[in-house]
Amino acid sequence: MPISQSHEVVIVGGGAAGIATAASMLKRRPSLDIAIIEPSEVHAYQPGWTMVGAGVFEPEVTLRPMSRVMPKGVDWIKAAAASFQPENNQVTLQDGSTIRYELLIVAPGIRLAWEKIAGLEETLGKHGVTSNYRYDLAPYTWQGAVSLTPNSLHLRRFAA
Ligand SMILES: Cc1cc2nc3c(=O)[nH]c(=O)nc-3n(C[C@H](O)[C@H](O)[C@H](O)COP(=O)(O)OP(=O)(O)OC[C@H]3O[C@@H](n4cnc5c(N)ncnc54)[C@H](O)[C@@H]3O)c2cc1C
Repeated sequence: MPISQSHEVVIVGGGAAGIATAASMLKRRPSLDIAIIEPSEVHAYQPGWTMVGAGVFEPEVTLRPMSRVMPKGVDWIKAAAASFQPENNQVTLQDGSTIRYELLIVAPGIRLAWEKIAGLEETLGKHGVTSNYRYDLAPYTWQGAVSLTPNSLHLRRFAA
């Protein structure tokens, strides 16, 4: 059933930006009433995917339970924000609940629009096409790297 609550600071998104902002604000003012709206149980350290692609990290080390990265004292609202009503200082969640705030910080990350490049989505992870910008593909980058030989087309092209 939809509920209503209110906080001094509301942060949408518990990624690197949302978590770091909350931690930094609490360090300066520990009594602040901060809520983070974040639906995911898992926090991903995305820059670590570069190391997965380079064969240095296993993919799993880049993931942490969200509960472990939430700064102490933050109220974690496990839900997704669905709409904003800035005229009422209010965010509405997907279940219809409303959260009021004095200060709103919006940090939901980006959506990578793979579909904007024709043919990309269906070939990612196949035929030597990869991206470290997706958790599940970063290991394929490393597979591709180790399968290269000095005589491979790629290396010959770089050497030219
Ligand atoms: C391979 C790779 C290498 C990178 N290397 C670097 C680097 O060297 N240096 C650097 O500065 N940056 C790097 N980045 C970028 C960096 O990872 C991002 O800048 C950073 O993770 C962004 O953090 P964020 O909190 O904005 O977004 P995210 O970490 O994507 O977090 C967004 C959060 O918002 C949540 N969310 C989404 N929609 C909603 C909603 N409707 N309601 C509530 N929550 C929602 C998501 O569940 C997610 O937890 C790299 C990224 C990648 C993929």
